[in-house]
Amino acid sequence: MSEEEGWEAFVKIRFAENEGEPFCPRCACSALYSIKTRRKWKCKACNFQFSVTSETIFASHKLQFRDILFAIALWTNGAKGMSALQLARDLHVQPKTAFVLLHKLREALGTLQHEQGLSGEVEIDGAYYGGYVKPSTRAEHRRDRRKLANQSGKRRCVTVMRERNGRTRPFVCSELEGAKLAPTVIGSGSIIYADEAKSYDSLHALFEMRRIDHSKSYAEGEISTNQAESFHSRMRRSEKGVHHRIAHHLAPYANEMAWREDNRRVSNGEQFLTIAAAGLHHPVSRQWKGYWQRRKEAA
Ligand SMILES: [Zn+2]
Repeated sequence: MSEEEGWEAFVKIRFAENEGEPFCPRCACSALYSIKTRRKWKCKACNFQFSVTSETIFASHKLQFRDILFAIALWTNGAKGMSALQLARDLHVQPKTAFVLLHKLREALGTLQHEQGLSGEVEIDGAYYGGYVKPSTRAEHRRDRRKLANQSGKRRCVTVMRERNGRTRPFVCSELEGAKLAPTVIGSGSIIYADEAKSYDSLHALFEMRRIDHSKSYAEGEISTNQAESFHSRMRRSEKGVHHRIAHHLAPYANEMAWREDNRRVSNGEQFLTIAAAGLHHPVSRQWKGYWQRRKEAA
């Protein structure tokens, strides 16, 4: 793929809603002056000058268009995720460039994951990540381990709410905080599945609750939190296999894994397009724009 073709692919994806024809991101006007040599447009209505990445998460990108597309394709294929180091090697770019690009993609996917509420049958479950990592066992989910984990201070809890056969929304918070959050995320009239953890007792007043006692069994017919746990095991595999230390950026990693879990049966081609489109329809990242420049100034 040439750089020109890469740029054309960006134009198609960004302006898909207008059949690939560019329009002004400020006023939606499609009467534009084209500044071909600089791959820019100027709006005839409001004079705004923009490129295909203006006001998106890819604004002020350092990579070429085709490299960004290649990066998304590589990242799409890594079911457990992909480390920035690996991506940097594959793209022949600096690790920090790959690191920032991946975090921008995660931010876009995170917005996508969290833009809708959950309803119907929803499973809720918490698990701890980061800090001291014990060999993987089912016992990680048990309560006595949680108390130990709480003492180390570095381990943090991700409480996930997962609509059965629907969307997965992870939150970096304790199960108690997760239970407080639940009514703002889960629609009334929903049925909630949870384990025996006391944190969820307060939800009985608001929802129809079905509880599974994990000290006795993992499922009783329909009653289980298996889908929530399947998110946690994907997180766990990613933590061990790819990222090793995810505690610093736990929320973005959790969002990535939630998205991968929800799209596990979607074809690679479709996943690729969704990620590229999510990036091109997401506003400039406050956190990651100029990240390394800021760190240099701070040092
Ligand atoms: Zn305009």
